[in-house]
Order: sequence, then structure tokens, then C-alpha cells
Amino acid sequence: MSILTPKSALKKQLPSSSSSSPDTLEYSSDDSSSSCRGSLSSDRSKSPFRSNDSSDHTVSSEDEGVVVSSSSKTRKRYVSTSRNKSGLSNYTFIRDGDFDIVWPNAAIFVIGHVLYFYSLWLLFTDHDEKMTKTWFFCYWVGFVGGLGITAGAHRLWSHKSYSARLPLRIFLMIGQCIAGQNSLYVWCRDHRVHHKFSETDADPHNTHRGFFFAHVGWLLRKKHPELHKKSGTLDFSDLLRDPVVKFQRDYYFALYFIFAVFGPASLPCLFWGETFSRSMLIVYVSRYVTALHSTWFVNSTAHMFGDRPYNESIQPRENYWVSYGAFGEGYHNYHHTFPWDYSTSELGGKLNLTKKFIDICAFLGLAYDLKQCKTHMIDSRKEKVHLHQQQLQQAQQHSQNQHPIATS
Ligand SMILES: [Zn+2]
Ligand SMILES: [Zn+2]
Repeated sequence: MSILTPKSALKKQLPSSSSSSPDTLEYSSDDSSSSCRGSLSSDRSKSPFRSNDSSDHTVSSEDEGVVVSSSSKTRKRYVSTSRNKSGLSNYTFIRDGDFDIVWPNAAIFVIGHVLYFYSLWLLFTDHDEKMTKTWFFCYWVGFVGGLGITAGAHRLWSHKSYSARLPLRIFLMIGQCIAGQNSLYVWCRDHRVHHKFSETDADPHNTHRGFFFAHVGWLLRKKHPELHKKSGTLDFSDLLRDPVVKFQRDYYFALYFIFAVFGPASLPCLFWGETFSRSMLIVYVSRYVTALHSTWFVNSTAHMFGDRPYNESIQPRENYWVSYGAFGEGYHNYHHTFPWDYSTSELGGKLNLTKKFIDICAFLGLAYDLKQCKTHMIDSRKEKVHLHQQQLQQAQQHSQNQHPIATS
């Protein structure tokens, strides 16, 4: 079974990602992402979780059309399109007869959330002094894991917004293991693709497919063929030139179980006699689920709710609630406009724990070459947005004056 959709038919249905939101590409492309090449499926065997890279179909591009072929499966495949509300671009929704769900991930997330609520129930019904210590310890493990994502995977390795000496890189790599959000290589690869092709079919968590998809659904579904095609045009080899990233990628499975699962969960048992089951529930499961949602809210909420003072032609927004929960990662309109700024926010923001951490590391000589946007560049962007909004208001007023009955 091969070609399921004629190329000419797909040409009509498939929008061109590059033409969908040119401003997004102009402002979101960062210098680090344009010099990388890699394979989307190369890490499938090293993750403790099932990758949602689709392995049973191949995608090729001919002119503007896309040919979707399936190797040996006989499942029906449906192709449909939908226009987003803002009118910035369309997306193409491709699914197999079985909805292309990555069932192992779905099972893990369902079980994880059930255990998470059970751990909260224990907090209120089975609470004792040991548990207080365990929850307190859990917070600090989560704190290190959070920094591994925000200061490490995101600002250091994905965007190269600052440089770090070996001890800091090792610390952040361990933190990223604790967070358990796949290897640094996979995390950075997906994030660079997200910036380069935001809000298109090639965006791993395209918000045009809805809040749920942008939040968690993208991990439960096989990846869109456009994602495979477009990410193949990028080069990620710079990531593996860092021996810390390469080591973590090569031994991710073992490192994950040491630093994310059994290491943190056994310490409360050793030091204050916590039971292993309770420790696993609190220090691993509840911490992991909380950290996942903190990261996911950046992909969903910070792309859908908030202001756009720096670039109103892109979807990412300034969301202070997300910044609070994600160590300063919610200043997302700013971040997508100036992705190379280590502070990811104008003047550092008020809730930017990650910036403060990097500043302390710089003070200690562990971080250097911190890149930050000049004030006049920020002001210029804001002025452009302000002028555009004024023009829109004037045009609207003019239209109302011209057609008072139609608009009343
Ligand atoms: Zn980013
Ligand atoms: Zn984003």
C-alpha cells in the first residue's frame, strides 16, 4: 500500500507552511538552529518512553505537494484541513484509522496522573513528619530538574544564549535527567524545530491544532509528516559536539533511572526512613507530573493567552502565570522575538528565576558570554507594534464612519 492521496488533490488541501506565517519565521529563527542537522528517529531506542516519531510511513516532497505513503499497513488514512481562527495559517490534519495514538505514552501519562492524585490524597490523609521532609525534599529535586530544563536544555543548549563551563554543564545535564523530558539532544532538537516552524504543521506542538494538542496531545500522537520533512532540513550536529550532551544521549536510559527515578526516591528512605513506595510516589511521580505540566503550559498557554507587545504577528504571548510556574519561561512573545536573549524577557522580568540563577553562575565564573537584547532594539519593536495598533484603530474608526449602519 503506497500512495493514498493524489498529489494534485493534496496540493489543494495542503497549505504551504512557509507561506502561512512569514513573520513567524522571520522573528523566530535563531542563529543556533540554522546550523544543525540530525535525524528525528535516531533516539527512539534510547528513551525510556516511546518516541512519537512515526515509523511506518515515509514522506517525500515533490514540488509543493506531499506524497504520504505507508510501508505495509492497510489502515485507512484521512487527510483534512482546517483554518485557524486568527487566519495566520492552515494546518493539515492527517490521521490513521486508529487515530495514530502512541499508546505506551498514553498509558504512562494516564497511570502517572492517577498516581499523582493518589499522592495528593496521601498528603491530606496519611501525613506525618517523614512525609513533610519528603515533600520538602521533592521540591528541591524538582527545582534542580526545572533548572536543567530552563537554564540547560532551553537557554544554554537550544538557543546558546550564554556559555557554561564544564561543571555547570554537568550540573544542568543531571538536572535535565531529573526532569525526565527525554534526552538533551531530543529536547533541543524539538525545541529548535518549534521555533523555526512555529504554528505550522512542522511545529511539534502546533497550537492551531488546539490547546490539548499543544499541551500534551503532541506526545500522544505520531508526528506530522511535515515535521519529519522540515526538521530534516536543519542541522543539529553542534549539540553532539558537546561531550556532555553526547554522553547523556549515549547513556540516557541508565542516567534517567539513576537521576530521575531511583536516586532521588531512595534518599528519603536512607536519611529519614521514608517508605520506598511513598518516596517513589512523591519524589518521582508527583514531581515528574508537576514538572511536565509546567513545561507544557509554555507550549500551550503561553502560545494562546496573553499580550503580544513585541511582535503581534506571531502566536506566543506574555503570560505571567506561566512565568511563575516555569521559572521565567512565560515571557514568550519576547522570547520568540529575541530567542538568543539569555533572560528571555525585557529587563529580566520579575518572575525570572532562571535569569537569576544564570546571573549567579556568571558571578561565580561558571557562565559567561551572556547575550542580551539592547534596549533600543526592544523599544523599536514595541514602537512598531504600537504604531500598527494605532493604524488598525484608525482604519476601524474610518470604516465605522463610512458604514455606520452596517457596523452598528
Ligand atoms: Zn525557546
Ligand atoms: Zn514557543
